[in-house]
Amino acid sequence: MASKKTSPGICYLVGAGPGDPGLLTLKGKECIEAADVLVYDYLCNPEHLRFAKPGTHRIYVGKKAGDHTLPQEEINALIVQLAKEGKTVTRLKGGDPVLFGRGAEEAAELHDAGVKFEIVPGITSAIAGPAYAGIPVTHRSHASQLTIFTGHEDPTKPDTALNYAKIAQADGTKVFLMGVERIDEITTQFLKHGAKPETPVALVRWATHTHQQTLVGTLADIAAKVKAAGFKAPAVAVIGDVVTEREKLNWFENRPLFGKKIVVTRTRQQASVLSKQLALLGADVIELPTIKIVEPQNPMLFGELVQDCHTYEWIIFTSPNGVDAFFTMFDKLYDDARSIGGVRIACVGPSTAERVKARHLAVDLMPEKNFVAEGLVKAFKDHQNMENVNVLWVRAEETREVIANELTGMGAIVDEGLAYRTVAETEDNLEALARLKAEGADMITFTSASTVEHFLNLKVALPEGIKIASIGPVTSTAIKERGLNVDVEAKDHSIPGLVAAVEKFWR
Ligand code: SAH
Repeated sequence: MASKKTSPGICYLVGAGPGDPGLLTLKGKECIEAADVLVYDYLCNPEHLRFAKPGTHRIYVGKKAGDHTLPQEEINALIVQLAKEGKTVTRLKGGDPVLFGRGAEEAAELHDAGVKFEIVPGITSAIAGPAYAGIPVTHRSHASQLTIFTGHEDPTKPDTALNYAKIAQADGTKVFLMGVERIDEITTQFLKHGAKPETPVALVRWATHTHQQTLVGTLADIAAKVKAAGFKAPAVAVIGDVVTEREKLNWFENRPLFGKKIVVTRTRQQASVLSKQLALLGADVIELPTIKIVEPQNPMLFGELVQDCHTYEWIIFTSPNGVDAFFTMFDKLYDDARSIGGVRIACVGPSTAERVKARHLAVDLMPEKNFVAEGLVKAFKDHQNMENVNVLWVRAEETREVIANELTGMGAIVDEGLAYRTVAETEDNLEALARLKAEGADMITFTSASTVEHFLNLKVALPEGIKIASIGPVTSTAIKERGLNVDVEAKDHSIPGLVAAVEKFWR
């Protein structure tokens, strides 16, 4: 008989947490990064997959109740086979892998097949779900004990492994998973075995996700409430006096933008700053990049102007993209930061200025408030006589001509460096487009006239009643020119300004 040989492959059984992308452990993330193959479930947030190396094979094995994309035996066989081929397999499971996750069965199969494995615990929905609904599972005044059980088993069947008399009479908090469909039978069992009908109960659906929903009731009425609300799986249920803490501790659902679905239309690279700030306030963000930034049509010409940058008295930046394009070119041309010379730097607004400051360069001029071309022109007017002053304006190909026209009118000699081009995003937004069509949204944000134009070119019907938020007057004009209403306009024409205006609108 051939001896059992340990294969060089390995399988990590990883808990992916309950859904909030931040609730993946550092070790879990490392296992995703190391994987050759990812095998993941319905309840594992697909956002985690972005940590995988390019080219990592992804296998979805489903497991929505009643819809087993792949039966458990086949999943077991699959991970064994992949690891035996010498691969690093990361098996991602929602929550914790060994709390009602059948992680132990998979581990046993790997053991029997002589395959190396590791168990990486995850944050379980059984504890994190209630916590995100403002319910601590233990509490000095209410509960010093926690019972976690599965609601999947039919309590009326004689062969059930659960002893409801014991569960119902146990002290402390009870949590059950997989029980929405059986809520009626479960609460009936509790009442039958002496639990008080007024005992508080909460169900937390899609816990820790931006679309989390919580339903609160008592043992006596929760089943009827579930039915009336059409409340569905997946949900974690918590029974006990700890539920009353939610009145004070409901931090997650009380954030200002909770429950609002907001579309962000910037480039993929720029979207994250806005998306993050909206998400921190509780919004469910759909990142739908409508534009992308590409090289200008004539990069050589731009390069020549950048090469001569030290010969100007002023360089004007009117967008963070312009700053990036300029310094990418500058770094190609020069290997000494001092080659920029004594040129002074003007910026249209704080986001642009921040990008300049990140290069350890000071910004000499910026409008005090009005962060648009007109504001910058006024700042120059107030600042100095522009007669015969040499200016390099680093701009997008499709910008308005205000800066050049006005400064030339004031006697300046303006060279225009066409640093980049904004074009339609056609590939990176298909998933988001499908989501927008399927789920709708409460608000869409525009951060430039080009995001408006390119969004409308996509010809997606705007969901009914959707509100439109604009970063400032130029963007608002573009929105109105296309026959749409502006519901929110940022006072401060910057990303933080837009976020503040959106927050105020929904407050
Ligand atoms: N191992 C998982 C549980 C798997 S059993 C864990 O530790 O969380 C599947 C059940 O978990 C679901 O039916 C539901 O009851 C619960 N569950 C998992 N993720 C959830 C979530 N984000 N919100 C609410 N319930 C969740």
